[in-house]
Amino acid sequence: MYDVIIIGSGPAGLTAAIYSKRAMLNVIVAEKDYMGTGQISVTERVDNYPGLYGINGFDLGEKFRDHATQSGAEFYEGQAVSITRNKDIWNVEFADGSTLSAKAVIYAAGTSYRRLEVKGGDKQRISYCVVCDGAFYKGKTVAVIGGGDTALGDALYLSKIAEKVYIIHRRDEFRGNKSLQAQVLAAGNVEPIMCATVAEVKGDTKAEAIVINQNGDLREIAVDGIFCAMGSVPNSDLLKGVCNLDNSGYIKADEDCKTSELGLFAAGDVRTTPLRQVITAAADGANAAVSAEKYISGLVFGK
Ligand SMILES: Cc1cc2nc3c(=O)[nH]c(=O)nc-3n(C[C@H](O)[C@H](O)[C@H](O)COP(=O)(O)OP(=O)(O)OC[C@H]3O[C@@H](n4cnc5c(N)ncnc54)[C@H](O)[C@@H]3O)c2cc1C
Repeated sequence: MYDVIIIGSGPAGLTAAIYSKRAMLNVIVAEKDYMGTGQISVTERVDNYPGLYGINGFDLGEKFRDHATQSGAEFYEGQAVSITRNKDIWNVEFADGSTLSAKAVIYAAGTSYRRLEVKGGDKQRISYCVVCDGAFYKGKTVAVIGGGDTALGDALYLSKIAEKVYIIHRRDEFRGNKSLQAQVLAAGNVEPIMCATVAEVKGDTKAEAIVINQNGDLREIAVDGIFCAMGSVPNSDLLKGVCNLDNSGYIKADEDCKTSELGLFAAGDVRTTPLRQVITAAADGANAAVSAEKYISGLVFGK
């Protein structure tokens, strides 16, 4: 039996592994993807992780994983399919039928973004993160797809970088909050296109144009970049009924990463948090490991 099972080897899970090992805990990191390092591995360039300006996302993930390995963390390749508690022991079952048991679980399974599934909409041409990629579009024309707070916030963020921003929304009004809407409209270089859906993305290795369907009429708009803000989905299905989730499915946990259940901790993008980035996920991993260590010490010493 382990002290801690960590689910997910993205920045949150790998940092939790490093801090758990420093606390002398017997820890195993379970990851569904072969040598996976989470979402950051798919981005070409990371400009906002301190000390590693311009690093390739894959390389950053590798550095995290190497660090966890050198710290002595054990890894397990498998997709967790259920997490249950029997008295003070947590059992994690995997897709192949195997089971691991531990005194505590740190759940760091991240999110998956809702993808733009249209012709030409593969991941080379679409960005899902303005904080990460917005700076590459200085003085250019971009389109944001979506109508909620994230899309409006993205349009506002990009309005300060790009020359022109289209915001394409399928309804006749935005869902996001009114003050954000007012700021977007006041920006001067944001053009809302309402009642429109994306029919196609044109371009070779990068976006060159977007074809929209507005009330049945197809129209092509030249763009240099496309930002999809149709929302993210937390990978929390297997915790439904196990601990408290918010209405969107994010695991309710504060900065100490404690969930509603003793011995179950949530770290990184999968928890309720105001910012979903590598740095906040890594910070969560550290906090979750320290909280787990405190919890386990309480058990060990019978407190
Ligand atoms: C395209 C893109 C570009 C980005 N660029 C930047 C950037 O430049 N700077 C920045 O700070 N942030 C960036 N981000 C955000 C950043 O990647 C995330 O905030 C960060 O990776 C979150 O880390 P995490 O560990 O919480 O989750 P994730 O990185 O999502 O890792 C979760 C891991 O859990 C695994 N997993 C999921 N379910 C299971 C299961 N059931 N069993 C086992 N394993 C499971 C997944 O395979 C994954 O490896 C970007 C995100 C994307 C998508």
